[in-house]
Amino acid sequence: MSDDNIRTVNDATCTFCGCVCDDIALTVDVAEHRITKSQNACVLGKAWFKEHGVEERPFALIGGREASTEEGVEEAARILAEARYPIIYGLSDTTCEAQRVAVSIADMIGGNVDTTTSVCHGPTGMAFQSVGESTASLGEIKNRADLIIFWGGNPAEAHPRLFSRYAVTPKGMYTPNGRKDRTVVLVDVRRTASAPVADIFLQVKPGTDFEVLWALRALVKGRKIDASIEQRTGIALTVLEDLAARMKRCNFGVLLFGMGLTMTRGRHFNAGALLALAADLNEFTHFVAAPVRGHGNVTGADNVVSWQTGFPFGVNFSRGYPRFNPGEWTTADLLARGEADAAMIIASDPAANFAKAAIEHLRRIPVITLDPKTSITSQLARVAFTTATYGINTPGTVYRMDGVPISLRPAFPSPYPSDEQVLTAIRSRVRTLLGGNRVPAGTPLGATAT
Ligand code: SF4
Repeated sequence: MSDDNIRTVNDATCTFCGCVCDDIALTVDVAEHRITKSQNACVLGKAWFKEHGVEERPFALIGGREASTEEGVEEAARILAEARYPIIYGLSDTTCEAQRVAVSIADMIGGNVDTTTSVCHGPTGMAFQSVGESTASLGEIKNRADLIIFWGGNPAEAHPRLFSRYAVTPKGMYTPNGRKDRTVVLVDVRRTASAPVADIFLQVKPGTDFEVLWALRALVKGRKIDASIEQRTGIALTVLEDLAARMKRCNFGVLLFGMGLTMTRGRHFNAGALLALAADLNEFTHFVAAPVRGHGNVTGADNVVSWQTGFPFGVNFSRGYPRFNPGEWTTADLLARGEADAAMIIASDPAANFAKAAIEHLRRIPVITLDPKTSITSQLARVAFTTATYGINTPGTVYRMDGVPISLRPAFPSPYPSDEQVLTAIRSRVRTLLGGNRVPAGTPLGATAT
C-alpha cells in the first residue's frame, strides 16, 4: 500500500444510526476503494465503514441477468408506469435528495409511499400529531440536561455514542462535571447493557408502560395513586413518587424513548402518554422528550415525506392527493393483505424482517430494489440496482435524530450511481411513458392522462 493511495477525511459522518456522528476521521485506501481506519467511531460505526468498500457487482440485474443501469431504469419505469397499485418503501438509509425524488415518483404514478418509520417510530409520529412535542437538540441536552430518562431502549448497544457524546458523560456548558452533574434513569422491561449506566433502574412489567406513565402524570399533578400500582406494573408507589419529585425539581429534564415503548402494547398511546408527561412537567421546570431513532436518515425520511405530503409515512396518492392512514397504507400491512402489484424498495430489506404473508406477496409481484449490497429483498427483485453508499461515496443531506440536518462528506467515489441519480432517471422515464401527466393508478399504459 503506497502512501500516495492513502487519504484522510476529517469530520466525516457516520450514517449507521440516528446519532449521525459527524466527527469521524477516516483513513481511506483510495486504490483499494476501502476505509482502513475510522477514528472516533463506535464499534457499530467501525463495522459500517469497514463493510462498505466497493464490491464488484453488476450495475443492475433484470430477472437475474446482468444489465446496465440504463436497461434497469427502462424496466423499472415500465413496471411502475403499468402498475395499478405501485408502492415505494424504505428510504431511511439514503439521502434527503433521493427521498424527495422517490416521493415525487409516488405522486406521479398515483402510488403509495412509506418508510421504515412505519415499523419503528410510526406511533411516535401519530402521537406528535395529536399531543405535540416539547423538544431540544442533542447539543442542548448535552449542555443543559441534569435528569436523563431512557425509556424502552438500549442505547449502550444500539446507539453507543449517545451516552458519550450527548447524554451521559460529556461535559456541557451547564453540566461542567459531566456524569457527576446528571442523574440517569433507565426504564425497561429487562436489564440490558444500558442498565449499569443508570443511577436508577425501573423494571416495568411488559405491556404496562402506559399505566406507569399515566401514574407519573397523576403524581406530577399532585393526585393520589393507589399502592396496588405495584402489582399491576412491578414498580412500587414510593419509587414512582420519588421519580415524579425528581422530575419536578430538575433544571432540565429529558425523556429519550425507544421502540420498547412504540412497538409494544399501547403503541401511539404509550408515546402520547410520554409526550403528555413531558408537556405537564413544563409547568414546574424545563422538560423535553425525543425518540431515539435507528436508521441514519429515518428522521430525514419523516421530514421529506412530511414536506411533500403533509404526513410522515404511510401516504397514498391513488386519488391524486395525499392521504394518510397507518394500518391501511403502511407497507407491512398492505403487503400482508396481498395488496400492491409492484414495489420499489430503496435502501431497505423488508424480505428479511416483514411477516411471512407480506414476504410471500413480495415474491408474487415485480420488485425493484436500490441497494449497495445484495440483500434478501434484492435477491427476489425483478430489477436490482447496485447503488453507491450514502455518506461514504455520495454527498447529500441527512437529519440527525433530533432533526438537525447534516451535510455528508464522502470518503471516496463509487463506480455505481447514487440512489438519487437512479431515481431521477426512473422518474424522467416514467414521466415520458405517462405522457408527461399524472395518471391515476389503474389507468392502463397509453390511455388518456388526466
Ligand atoms: S453512535 Fe451511531 S452514528 Fe455514531 S459512530 Fe456509532 S453507529 Fe455511527
